Amino acid sequence: MSRAIEVGVLGATGMVGQQFLALLAGHPWFTPTWLAASERSEGKRYGDAAAWRLAGPAPEGVPDRVVESATPGMGPKLVFSALDASVAGDLEREFAEAGHVVVSNARNHRMDAVVPLLVPEVNADHLALLEGQRAARGWKGLIVTNPNCSTVMLTMALAPLRQFDLRACLVTTLQAVSGAGYPGVPSYDILGNVIPFISGEEEKIESETRKILGAAEAAGVTLHPVAVSASTTRVPVIDGHTESVSVSLGARPQAEDLRQAFEAFRGLPQELELPSAPPRPLLYLDAPNRPQPRFDAGRDGGMAVSIGRLRPCRVLDWKFFVLGHNTVRGAAGAAILNAELMLAQGWLD
Ligand code: NAP
Repeated sequence: MSRAIEVGVLGATGMVGQQFLALLAGHPWFTPTWLAASERSEGKRYGDAAAWRLAGPAPEGVPDRVVESATPGMGPKLVFSALDASVAGDLEREFAEAGHVVVSNARNHRMDAVVPLLVPEVNADHLALLEGQRAARGWKGLIVTNPNCSTVMLTMALAPLRQFDLRACLVTTLQAVSGAGYPGVPSYDILGNVIPFISGEEEKIESETRKILGAAEAAGVTLHPVAVSASTTRVPVIDGHTESVSVSLGARPQAEDLRQAFEAFRGLPQELELPSAPPRPLLYLDAPNRPQPRFDAGRDGGMAVSIGRLRPCRVLDWKFFVLGHNTVRGAAGAAILNAELMLAQGWLD
């Protein structure tokens, strides 16, 4: 890339929007020139519309930027979306109709047959669905999505197990409060507590996982046959979703085979050396008490997923823990990696 291209951020004032601005500061390929949010924030100085909630100061210049109206046709061709799901469905479609390439975090379009639900290390080939999207929707632009935050880490851990005939997966999540946006869960509800319900989350993990691990064809994706059963909880952790995972495998691999499969796992982002690609997407941690969110969620800038405690399961075959940074690898970083892949493969020309 000889020159960075201009990008916009829809929902720039929210939890994920802030993570976008943090990750895009100094990005070699993308420069955020247009920040948009709701009518509540529109026309205000960013620093007045949104309190900065990430560690460290807001990127230089951001607090003085004026928040724009989220109007389709305004702003750069490439827009990242961190819109609230209550408005993302219609607004993202309207942006795509107006010619924007929308790279979204929101759930609304993820399960649309002609919308790629991407984890670039796992299913970069699903970008081929965009041909079907152009034909079926007739939008001047495009929509590409990244999965729910818990699903990103889960699919990265399951992808290298497909070679062992992955048949079933039980997953229980321990999800950080930043995953609920701001203000999110009231402190009185979450401090010293565990909440065994996150609306819609289990269904998303169970359906999105099968689409991501599935095979893309022109008209859509054939879902992977793995049976997934998810239980989700909210815990008093700021950043980093932990997942306890058990899997059933038709083949009979040994622990060392699985460990090697995790450690050898690489994808197109590593081959293409995309700017946000961690050199090793999966890090196997040997210490018996890792991974832990406070120490491991930020590995490789939050883009690497940590795995640990691989051991036999008496009900299924094997069990282990997975951890990833929910607003980086599970949201803004995931979308930025998607856009890098799209740029590298000519989808933004
Ligand atoms: P959030 O903190 O509540 O932020 C929502 C953003 O949407 C704000 O910038 C808000 O602007 C904007 N917005 C709301 N209504 C709007 C409208 N009518 N027009 C334009 N902008 C509007 O939520 P979040 O946690 O950042 O999540 C953003 C999206 O990412 C959601 O769809 C969420 O499900 C998804 N996601 C989140 C995570 C995570 O870990 N947090 C992970 C994966 C995916 P104002 O500030 O002006 O109200």
